[in-house]
Amino acid sequence: MMTQFPTLQSAKQGSVNMVDNAELAETEEEPEEEEVEEQSKKEEKKRVVLEKTKTPRARNIVGMIFNLRMLRRIVQIFFFIGVNAWILGAMGNEAAQQFWITIRDIIPTLPMIAPLEGIYAMIGGSFDAMHRELAAGIFPFFTLGSMIIILTILGRTTCGWICPIGTIQDFATLPNREKIRPAPSTENELRRIKAGIFIIVTFFSSWVAISTMLGTDDAIRRALGVFADSGFAPINPAYIIFKLFFEVPWPNSLETLWYISSWGWVFWLQFIFILLIVFVSLWFPRWYCRWLCPAGWFYGIFSRNALISIGRNPAKCTPDTCNVCEVVCPMNIRIRRFPYQHVHSQECIMCLECKSHCPNDAIEIKFS
Ligand code: SF4
Ligand code: SF4
Repeated sequence: MMTQFPTLQSAKQGSVNMVDNAELAETEEEPEEEEVEEQSKKEEKKRVVLEKTKTPRARNIVGMIFNLRMLRRIVQIFFFIGVNAWILGAMGNEAAQQFWITIRDIIPTLPMIAPLEGIYAMIGGSFDAMHRELAAGIFPFFTLGSMIIILTILGRTTCGWICPIGTIQDFATLPNREKIRPAPSTENELRRIKAGIFIIVTFFSSWVAISTMLGTDDAIRRALGVFADSGFAPINPAYIIFKLFFEVPWPNSLETLWYISSWGWVFWLQFIFILLIVFVSLWFPRWYCRWLCPAGWFYGIFSRNALISIGRNPAKCTPDTCNVCEVVCPMNIRIRRFPYQHVHSQECIMCLECKSHCPNDAIEIKFS
């Protein structure tokens, strides 16, 4: 069952503490007077800390404009266009399109989700490309190799800074400051879903791959239908947005409203899925990445001990009285449970929200 932890807003109002399960359990017993006083002092401390999470640390006006968060937003928009950069040529900007062709020639796929079948697709996602190659009966040596190299050096930075579906969720979550953080046990259960999806789609892609190599793929392709060419594509939000959305007629006036009656039921489900990704992000940041994305789960295997990661400076971090980094982490990582040296979490997308918000400047980027 989903446990609703107190939101950032309720914590700010000092109504409920929001640190850990254990602390919530404590409130069930009748407290002594000294305990009440101690508790209210603690809550006041936390309220002050949580107040600091409203906006990232910025010492002056320049810092408010040019900061890590702003830089990430700019990079995200830049790559959102870049992964679909053929659109630049369609709009007449061939110089910009040529720039992205040069990038594409160096790195044709990156650890994110972005299908090469997209109408304007320039750079593909490693996971999407792997599944396409498998379905064509080819073992994805190059895609897999380049993906592992990027992930072991940069971790899941591409998830945090480049993936277009991550970008959509990050922007969708901005209007609402009151986020819900499931308890760690619930979060762990929900994370298992993406591992299950990974196993299922990879099983079918591998089955198609082997059948194709043996020349006996007709039956399995007929049985799998839309899932035959890539087990992931029909449930891949990037495929739905960048390919399927361009293939159906969209109404642009009352007279053309009937166009939607021509949409098949499969597309309706896919459309509702995309709306859900956006809507649910208002309360659960990056929920698709956290619980559903099989690509993110796979990337996490190689990024856990990446060369570049984050850690906490023990001289600055005050974990007993502060949980700002955990409150702002879009992946709901309990950062304080990791050793100071490294946050060895395969969920970390190197978004650096924790670094931007830490009131003690204790979060550091590690190169080791
Ligand atoms: S977890 Fe999946 S959807 Fe999220 S950023 Fe990574 S590749 Fe993209
Ligand atoms: S631990 Fe920090 S860098 Fe990693 S996902 Fe959470 S906020 Fe982003």
